[in-house]
Amino acid sequence: MMGMVVTIDGPAASGKSSVSRELARRLGWKWVSTGAFYRGLAYAALQLDVDLDDVKTLAELTHNPVWNVSLESERTKVFFKDQDVTDQIAHEDVGNFASRISHYPEVRKALLDAQRNCSSGPDGLVAEGRDCGTVVFPTAEAKVYLTASSEHRAARRATELGLDQGEMVKAQKQRDLQDSTRKVAPMAIPDNAFVIDSTELNLSEVVDKIEAYVHSKIDN
Ligand code: C5P
Repeated sequence: MMGMVVTIDGPAASGKSSVSRELARRLGWKWVSTGAFYRGLAYAALQLDVDLDDVKTLAELTHNPVWNVSLESERTKVFFKDQDVTDQIAHEDVGNFASRISHYPEVRKALLDAQRNCSSGPDGLVAEGRDCGTVVFPTAEAKVYLTASSEHRAARRATELGLDQGEMVKAQKQRDLQDSTRKVAPMAIPDNAFVIDSTELNLSEVVDKIEAYVHSKIDN
Protein backbone atom coordinates (compact mmCIF):
# COMPACT_ATOMS: atom_id res chain seq x y z
CA MET A 1 0.00 0.00 0.00
CA MET A 2 1.26 3.46 -0.89
CA GLY A 3 0.41 6.67 0.93
CA MET A 4 -0.29 9.98 -0.79
CA VAL A 5 2.73 11.83 -2.26
CA VAL A 6 3.29 15.58 -2.48
CA THR A 7 6.30 16.71 -4.52
CA ILE A 8 8.12 20.01 -4.05
CA ASP A 9 10.65 20.89 -6.73
CA GLY A 10 12.66 24.03 -7.34
CA PRO A 11 16.11 25.61 -7.65
CA ALA A 12 18.92 25.64 -5.07
CA ALA A 13 18.04 27.24 -1.72
CA SER A 14 14.45 28.04 -2.68
CA GLY A 15 13.45 26.87 0.81
CA LYS A 16 12.34 23.38 -0.27
CA SER A 17 13.82 21.59 2.74
CA SER A 18 12.40 23.91 5.41
CA VAL A 19 9.03 23.99 3.67
CA SER A 20 8.90 20.20 3.20
CA ARG A 21 9.90 19.52 6.78
CA GLU A 22 7.24 21.85 8.17
CA LEU A 23 4.56 20.62 5.76
CA ALA A 24 5.31 16.98 6.69
CA ARG A 25 5.21 17.88 10.39
CA ARG A 26 1.79 19.52 10.02
CA LEU A 27 0.40 16.63 7.97
CA GLY A 28 2.05 13.93 10.14
CA TRP A 29 3.77 12.51 7.03
CA LYS A 30 7.34 11.45 6.18
CA TRP A 31 9.59 13.71 4.12
CA VAL A 32 12.64 13.19 1.99
CA SER A 33 15.15 15.58 0.51
CA THR A 34 16.11 13.66 -2.64
CA GLY A 35 19.20 15.86 -3.05
CA ALA A 36 20.64 13.79 -0.17
CA PHE A 37 20.96 10.84 -2.58
CA TYR A 38 23.01 12.92 -5.04
CA ARG A 39 25.02 14.64 -2.32
CA GLY A 40 25.61 11.35 -0.47
CA LEU A 41 26.81 9.64 -3.64
CA ALA A 42 29.10 12.56 -4.50
CA TYR A 43 30.49 12.56 -0.96
CA ALA A 44 31.11 8.78 -0.99
CA ALA A 45 32.80 9.06 -4.40
CA LEU A 46 35.09 11.83 -3.16
CA GLN A 47 35.99 9.88 -0.01
CA LEU A 48 36.73 6.75 -2.03
CA ASP A 49 38.67 8.62 -4.72
CA VAL A 50 36.24 7.61 -7.44
CA ASP A 51 36.65 9.69 -10.57
CA LEU A 52 33.48 11.80 -10.89
CA ASP A 53 33.38 11.04 -14.62
CA ASP A 54 33.67 7.27 -14.14
CA VAL A 55 29.98 6.62 -14.68
CA LYS A 56 30.15 2.84 -14.32
CA THR A 57 31.84 2.98 -10.91
CA LEU A 58 29.51 5.78 -9.79
CA ALA A 59 26.45 3.71 -10.78
CA GLU A 60 27.86 0.72 -8.86
CA LEU A 61 28.52 2.93 -5.84
CA THR A 62 24.81 3.84 -5.66
CA HIS A 63 24.16 0.31 -4.30
CA ASN A 64 27.24 0.06 -2.08
CA PRO A 65 26.22 -0.22 1.60
CA VAL A 66 29.23 1.92 2.55
CA TRP A 67 26.76 4.84 2.47
CA ASN A 68 23.04 5.17 3.02
CA VAL A 69 20.23 7.68 3.38
CA SER A 70 17.93 7.76 6.40
CA LEU A 71 14.58 9.59 6.53
CA GLU A 72 14.16 11.45 9.81
CA SER A 73 11.65 14.09 10.77
CA GLU A 74 14.25 16.86 11.25
CA ARG A 75 16.57 16.06 8.34
CA THR A 76 17.21 13.57 5.59
CA LYS A 77 20.44 12.11 6.94
CA VAL A 78 23.37 10.57 5.11
CA PHE A 79 25.70 8.02 6.69
CA PHE A 80 29.12 7.07 5.31
CA LYS A 81 30.93 4.15 6.96
CA ASP A 82 28.34 4.38 9.78
CA GLN A 83 29.25 8.02 10.48
CA ASP A 84 26.60 10.72 10.22
CA VAL A 85 27.94 13.03 7.47
CA THR A 86 24.76 15.10 7.04
CA ASP A 87 26.58 18.34 7.99
CA GLN A 88 29.45 17.62 5.63
CA ILE A 89 27.21 17.00 2.61
CA ALA A 90 25.42 20.33 3.17
CA HIS A 91 28.42 22.30 1.86
CA GLU A 92 27.97 24.10 -1.45
CA ASP A 93 31.02 22.35 -2.96
CA VAL A 94 29.38 18.94 -2.31
CA GLY A 95 26.19 20.39 -3.88
CA ASN A 96 28.20 21.31 -6.93
CA PHE A 97 29.78 17.83 -7.19
CA ALA A 98 26.28 16.36 -6.75
CA SER A 99 25.06 18.53 -9.61
CA ARG A 100 27.95 17.31 -11.79
CA ILE A 101 27.24 13.61 -11.28
CA SER A 102 23.48 14.16 -11.55
CA HIS A 103 23.96 14.68 -15.32
CA TYR A 104 24.65 11.02 -15.92
CA PRO A 105 21.52 9.05 -16.90
CA GLU A 106 23.06 5.85 -15.45
CA VAL A 107 23.49 7.55 -12.07
CA ARG A 108 19.97 9.00 -12.07
CA LYS A 109 18.48 5.64 -13.03
CA ALA A 110 20.47 3.80 -10.35
CA LEU A 111 19.19 6.18 -7.66
CA LEU A 112 15.57 6.07 -8.78
CA ASP A 113 14.35 2.95 -6.94
CA ALA A 114 15.83 4.07 -3.63
CA GLN A 115 14.02 7.41 -3.98
CA ARG A 116 10.74 5.78 -4.96
CA ASN A 117 10.99 3.34 -2.04
CA CYS A 118 10.64 6.32 0.28
CA SER A 119 6.91 6.26 -0.45
CA SER A 120 6.42 2.62 0.57
CA GLY A 121 3.99 1.99 3.42
CA PRO A 122 0.70 3.64 4.28
CA ASP A 123 2.10 7.01 5.45
CA GLY A 124 2.03 10.04 3.18
CA LEU A 125 5.31 11.44 1.82
CA VAL A 126 6.54 14.93 1.04
CA ALA A 127 9.38 14.55 -1.49
CA GLU A 128 11.55 17.51 -2.49
CA GLY A 129 14.16 17.86 -5.23
CA ARG A 130 14.46 18.82 -8.89
CA ASP A 131 12.56 16.04 -10.70
CA CYS A 132 10.26 14.65 -8.01
CA GLY A 133 7.06 15.73 -9.76
CA THR A 134 8.31 15.01 -13.29
CA VAL A 135 10.28 11.74 -12.97
CA VAL A 136 10.48 10.23 -9.48
CA PHE A 137 6.77 10.51 -8.64
CA PRO A 138 5.03 11.46 -11.90
CA THR A 139 1.66 10.31 -10.54
CA ALA A 140 1.92 12.30 -7.29
CA GLU A 141 -1.44 13.66 -6.18
CA ALA A 142 -0.09 17.16 -5.52
CA LYS A 143 2.88 18.90 -7.16
CA VAL A 144 4.48 22.16 -6.09
CA TYR A 145 7.22 24.22 -7.74
CA LEU A 146 8.87 26.57 -5.27
CA THR A 147 11.07 29.43 -6.34
CA ALA A 148 12.44 32.78 -5.13
CA SER A 149 14.71 35.49 -6.52
CA SER A 150 18.34 34.37 -6.91
CA GLU A 151 19.57 37.14 -4.54
CA HIS A 152 17.08 36.06 -1.90
CA ARG A 153 18.07 32.40 -2.24
CA ALA A 154 21.78 33.17 -2.09
CA ALA A 155 21.35 35.40 0.95
CA ARG A 156 19.41 32.64 2.70
CA ARG A 157 22.04 29.96 2.04
CA ALA A 158 25.00 32.30 2.71
CA THR A 159 23.56 33.11 6.13
CA GLU A 160 22.97 29.41 6.87
CA LEU A 161 26.54 28.46 5.92
CA GLY A 162 28.27 31.69 7.09
CA LEU A 163 29.59 32.48 3.59
CA ASP A 164 29.91 35.48 1.28
CA GLN A 165 26.65 36.32 -0.49
CA GLY A 166 28.26 37.40 -3.80
CA GLU A 167 30.14 34.11 -4.09
CA MET A 168 26.96 32.21 -3.24
CA VAL A 169 24.95 33.97 -6.00
CA LYS A 170 27.60 32.85 -8.51
CA ALA A 171 27.80 29.26 -7.21
CA GLN A 172 24.02 28.83 -7.19
CA LYS A 173 23.54 30.37 -10.65
CA GLN A 174 26.10 27.90 -11.98
CA ARG A 175 24.37 24.95 -10.24
CA ASP A 176 20.87 26.04 -11.37
CA LEU A 177 22.12 26.39 -14.94
CA GLN A 178 23.64 22.89 -14.82
CA ASP A 179 20.47 21.45 -13.29
CA SER A 180 18.04 23.10 -15.69
CA THR A 181 19.98 22.50 -18.92
CA ARG A 182 21.03 18.87 -18.44
CA LYS A 183 19.62 16.41 -20.96
CA VAL A 184 18.13 13.95 -18.49
CA ALA A 185 15.43 14.95 -16.01
CA PRO A 186 16.26 18.66 -16.07
CA MET A 187 14.80 20.78 -13.32
CA ALA A 188 11.42 21.86 -14.72
CA ILE A 189 7.99 22.95 -13.58
CA PRO A 190 5.78 19.81 -13.62
CA ASP A 191 2.51 20.03 -15.57
CA ASN A 192 -0.32 21.29 -13.40
CA ALA A 193 2.07 22.21 -10.59
CA PHE A 194 1.16 24.82 -8.01
CA VAL A 195 3.91 27.44 -8.48
CA ILE A 196 4.89 29.59 -5.49
CA ASP A 197 7.40 32.44 -5.43
CA SER A 198 8.53 32.69 -1.82
CA THR A 199 10.60 35.89 -2.17
CA GLU A 200 8.05 37.99 -0.27
CA LEU A 201 6.70 35.23 1.97
CA ASN A 202 7.85 33.79 5.27
CA LEU A 203 8.06 30.06 5.94
CA SER A 204 4.65 29.66 7.54
CA GLU A 205 2.94 31.69 4.78
CA VAL A 206 4.43 29.35 2.17
CA VAL A 207 3.46 26.24 4.12
CA ASP A 208 -0.06 27.62 4.71
CA LYS A 209 -0.54 27.93 0.95
CA ILE A 210 0.76 24.45 0.22
CA GLU A 211 -1.20 22.88 3.06
CA ALA A 212 -4.43 24.42 1.72
CA TYR A 213 -3.57 23.14 -1.76
CA VAL A 214 -2.85 19.62 -0.44
CA HIS A 215 -6.12 19.58 1.50
CA SER A 216 -7.99 20.59 -1.66
CA LYS A 217 -6.46 17.50 -3.34
CA ILE A 218 -7.25 15.21 -0.39
CA ASP A 219 -10.87 16.42 -0.38
CA ASN A 220 -11.24 15.79 -4.11
O1 C5P B 1 18.51 19.91 -3.35
P1 C5P B 1 20.00 19.82 -3.17
O2 C5P B 1 20.69 21.16 -3.21
O3 C5P B 1 20.38 19.03 -1.96
O4 C5P B 1 20.51 18.97 -4.45
C1 C5P B 1 21.88 18.83 -4.76
C2 C5P B 1 22.02 18.53 -6.25
O5 C5P B 1 21.51 17.21 -6.51
C3 C5P B 1 21.23 19.44 -7.17
O6 C5P B 1 21.96 20.60 -7.54
C4 C5P B 1 20.92 18.55 -8.37
O7 C5P B 1 21.98 18.55 -9.30
C5 C5P B 1 20.86 17.16 -7.78
N1 C5P B 1 19.47 16.72 -7.62
C6 C5P B 1 18.84 16.20 -8.73
N2 C5P B 1 17.58 15.70 -8.64
C7 C5P B 1 16.93 15.74 -7.46
C8 C5P B 1 17.53 16.30 -6.31
C9 C5P B 1 18.82 16.81 -6.44
O8 C5P B 1 19.43 16.18 -9.82
N3 C5P B 1 15.69 15.23 -7.38
